[in-house]
Amino acid sequence: MTRIKLVWRLFPAFILIAVICLVAATWYTTSSWRQFYLAETAVDLENRARLTEIYLQDVRPTPDALQVNEICQKLGKITSTRLTVILASGTVAGDSQEDPKRMDNHADRPEFRQAMAGRVGVSTRFSFTLGHDMMYVAVPWRQKDQPVGVVRASLPMKAIAGAIRALYLKVALGGLLVAFLVAVLGFFIARRISGPLHNLQRGALRFARGDLDRTLPIPHTAELASLAEALNYMAEQLQNKIESLTRQGQEQQAILSSMTEGVLALDAEGRLLTINSAGAAMLHLDAATAHNLPIQEVIQDTGLKWFINRTLSSPAPIEDEVEIKDNGRRIFKAHGTSLRDAQGTSLGTLIVLHDITQLRQLENTRRDFVANVSHELKTPITSIKGFVETLLAGALKEPDNAENFLKIIAKQTDRLNEIIDDLLTLARIEQDAERRQIFFNGHKIKGVLQSAIQVCETKAAVKEIDIQLTCPEDLRAMINPPLLEQALVNLVDNAVKFSEPGRVVQVEAQREGPQVIIRVRDQGPGIPPEHLPRIFERFYRVDAGRSRKIGGSGLGLAIVKHIALAHGGRVTVTSSPGKETVFSLQVPAD
Ligand code: ADP
Repeated sequence: MTRIKLVWRLFPAFILIAVICLVAATWYTTSSWRQFYLAETAVDLENRARLTEIYLQDVRPTPDALQVNEICQKLGKITSTRLTVILASGTVAGDSQEDPKRMDNHADRPEFRQAMAGRVGVSTRFSFTLGHDMMYVAVPWRQKDQPVGVVRASLPMKAIAGAIRALYLKVALGGLLVAFLVAVLGFFIARRISGPLHNLQRGALRFARGDLDRTLPIPHTAELASLAEALNYMAEQLQNKIESLTRQGQEQQAILSSMTEGVLALDAEGRLLTINSAGAAMLHLDAATAHNLPIQEVIQDTGLKWFINRTLSSPAPIEDEVEIKDNGRRIFKAHGTSLRDAQGTSLGTLIVLHDITQLRQLENTRRDFVANVSHELKTPITSIKGFVETLLAGALKEPDNAENFLKIIAKQTDRLNEIIDDLLTLARIEQDAERRQIFFNGHKIKGVLQSAIQVCETKAAVKEIDIQLTCPEDLRAMINPPLLEQALVNLVDNAVKFSEPGRVVQVEAQREGPQVIIRVRDQGPGIPPEHLPRIFERFYRVDAGRSRKIGGSGLGLAIVKHIALAHGGRVTVTSSPGKETVFSLQVPAD
């Protein structure tokens, strides 16, 4: 449907009303005026007829009285009127424009009969004598109070019609002028009405586009003013609603993005509605691209897919462990609940993923640790038990063997002691670090390194290993000296232990940026690369048999690692088997 502008609806209505008014006014005016004009003309003709009658007072009313015709012609000329004198018999005695002898009897004319009855006769009709419409006014011709005939004055209707037409023309021209003025005025009035409406329309469109800050100006017209106020009120309400919704959305977003759990909301068809940043990171998804896509297309892992399928089809909450294999193995505790609105209608599913990989690793480590400790303790205990039983079985009576066996028992006991000491040390360091009971001060490093080397010197001397120290005199670090010394003893002891006799062990310390790095370098057999990542684990040994033989609990490097961590530093290792092995201990510089 084509839409017409309000101005074009109002304007023709204005014009129509104006034209109707004009036509009505013109018709009324002209018809009144016509009546008035005809009445005036009739009065005029009556007066002329009466004047003519005065001239006929002394004239004999006979058909051959020439005087009558003369008077008619003279007065008719002066008054520009056709004057006719008709005798009581109807015979025309005189006429200002025709020969009375040629005129027929007028006794049947209505104006004649009225005048003969003593009234003023008026008639408008076609004149057969002159061949056009005429207005006739007839008055009685009296002599000695006796009617002797009729004096009739007449005018052609053409003249009257001409005068009326001239009037019509003027009225029509005036009407046209008025119509034009009404049209122009109407146009401006229509514009004045539609203008503010147009402004309101533009304002409403602006509101619809979301620009709710600017209020609409209030027009002067009461109805439009109420409309504008209503629109402004609506915009304000909308603004408040939008603000509160945005705030709610932001709050929800903030909560979701600060959660460490992955949260996924799916609709009933399994399309992804929302995913928080933790969820996107866990599943390696881009939240924006994955939005609204079927979840089964977005994720690859079959275990998770299966869990989601189960959740989508189950009305009850589901909980399970899901294992995802990508760049290693990750384990998630997954919860699936159906999403419901306030009325309880199901909208889809909510899935929460909690990464428990580390927890599982810790559990595994603890399990392994218990197994390792038991295994480590079991070996010397089995050995001790065996020798004690042998002694009890009679070997005690063989002094040579007995002494030998007791020596082995003593050695195994030392080993047990060593393992337990190291375990206790490790536990203490971990506990103290957790409780922040280890205190660090700015200290010169060199003294600590010298003490550590001194501890290992006896062992080194036996193997003729030279321990060399390179450390600036004033190099300082934030350390706990006894702990750092213990870590260094472990590193230097290992270096000496695993080096061939006669080699050199170097201990170097230097500042690198905000750190002090202490390196222990040896020329021993080194550590094959596949063992390097696990070398700092408790009880981890490259060659368990050899390691036990040359003494060691398998906890030395684990202690070093925990001491480094307690200092806020770390320990790393590089090794080229057969060439050299370098352990680097980093601690914060002072
Ligand atoms: P252990 O008490 O058995 O020496 P550590 O924790 O100190 O235990 O060391 C773990 C393992 O790392 C050792 O068994 C050994 O295989 C290897 N290792 C440590 N330091 C060295 C080194 N300097 N050269 C070669 N292997 C080493």
